[in-house]
Amino acid sequence: MAAVVAVLAIAAAVLVWPHAKDPGPVVPPFLPVFSTWVTLTEALTALLLWTQYAVSGRLLFAALSGAYSFTSVVAAIQLLVFPGVFSPTGLLGAGPQTAVWIWVFWHGGFPALVTASLFARSVPASLTHRTLARVVAVGAVAVAVGLCILATAGQSHLPPLVAKSGSYTQLSDSPAGIIVEALCLAALGLHVSTTRVRSLMDLWLAVALVGALIDVTLTLSAGARYSVGWYAARVASMVSSSAVLGMLIYETTGLYRRLSETHRKLVETSARDGLTGVFNRAYFDDRFAREFSLASVSKQPLCVLLLDVDHFKQYNDTYGHMAGDDCLKKVAGALSGTLRRQGDFVARYGGEEFVVVLPSCEPAAGLRVAQSLRAAVEKLAIRSASPTGAPVTVSVGMASTFQDPLESAPALLGLADTALYRAKARGRNRVVEAMDIAERQSVSDSEVPIVSVIKP
Ligand code: GH3
Ligand code: MG
Ligand code: MG
Repeated sequence: MAAVVAVLAIAAAVLVWPHAKDPGPVVPPFLPVFSTWVTLTEALTALLLWTQYAVSGRLLFAALSGAYSFTSVVAAIQLLVFPGVFSPTGLLGAGPQTAVWIWVFWHGGFPALVTASLFARSVPASLTHRTLARVVAVGAVAVAVGLCILATAGQSHLPPLVAKSGSYTQLSDSPAGIIVEALCLAALGLHVSTTRVRSLMDLWLAVALVGALIDVTLTLSAGARYSVGWYAARVASMVSSSAVLGMLIYETTGLYRRLSETHRKLVETSARDGLTGVFNRAYFDDRFAREFSLASVSKQPLCVLLLDVDHFKQYNDTYGHMAGDDCLKKVAGALSGTLRRQGDFVARYGGEEFVVVLPSCEPAAGLRVAQSLRAAVEKLAIRSASPTGAPVTVSVGMASTFQDPLESAPALLGLADTALYRAKARGRNRVVEAMDIAERQSVSDSEVPIVSVIKP
């Protein structure tokens, strides 16, 4: 992309060059549009480069930020002093030579500062030289303001470069013009040879320097404002000022994309249980509270199942903790493999306990899911520690908001826990559903067990 931009810019410059002196149409709004563009793009580039410095601690970015701040300030002041924009002769007490001298300082200053920033490359990255970085950046702006004061208040001390007719052919032959052209050439040569354009920043900075060189060459060849070369030089200047900014915006967008992807992965991993791969307790606590509020607002039923591996201590004692871990992984796999509906999820509640949440699920359907989960674990046929050779099983306690609107998520979970306790008490490997409060009240009054038992 950088090569395409550079080649196109050079090709266009070569085509325009023979016609550089041809007078073009006088379009007064062109200069304000051009200057505003350059001022803004250079200021934004300076800001982004400064943030690069703040993040990386590389003095180079602070130095380049200074170079761009310099150009932005000078371009803004040139707009103010340009004849015919805000007043016939320009603001800030500008004389006929002011705008052209500011052009000289601008186009000589930028390559000079980029070249000076080469020294900052060897400074190792450290956020401790904050003061030095500030001095570099503020110094560049101070130099810009100082030079502009020289071009306005001190204009009488500067040699004339513009004739009365508005032609500035004197500039092309003056030492000032030659120095500016030489600075641009030297800056490009030194930049390419020193950096070997290895990074994206170096590459686009090289494009910016090519643009600056074309700008200066065409301006000097044109010799007068509003000529073909003068317009083409301004376009090259716009390309030059936007090159690094375009790269920084592109890179920042890519960075955001990678950051959000990494963040998504991080959130995903932090939500998972390290052993079983199902969601972890922290994720469950957060998501269950949200599902509960959602169910309360939408008046949709919500089922929660607590599952506990039966006689697991005995399993560990018989086969060892490694085999126990393996067993837990298989159980977790069977549980998550049984859930089909989007929105249902299983999490490891702790130890050998799992919890399953079924949003928008009627109690009858919840019981069917609970039964399939129980059956799925049994079907794994993991040999338990029991002398009968029975497989590893789970007991399930279920509670739902549907028949019993509860005030809080913990209350609902508490009901599921009570139901699980009952499932254990009644012989394990079974599902028990918690009943609603009114029914519990009536059954406890009549001394009947407070759970309904569904046998496997
Ligand atoms: P019950 O049928 O009443 O649930 O009996 P139980 O033996 O399963 O219950 P208990 O709470 O007494 O034992 C739970 C066991 O689960 C004890 C603990 O060593 C084991 N356990 C908890 N977390 C892990 C784990 O991450 N890996 C392994 N291997 N064992 C675990
Ligand atoms: Mg337990
Ligand atoms: Mg257990």
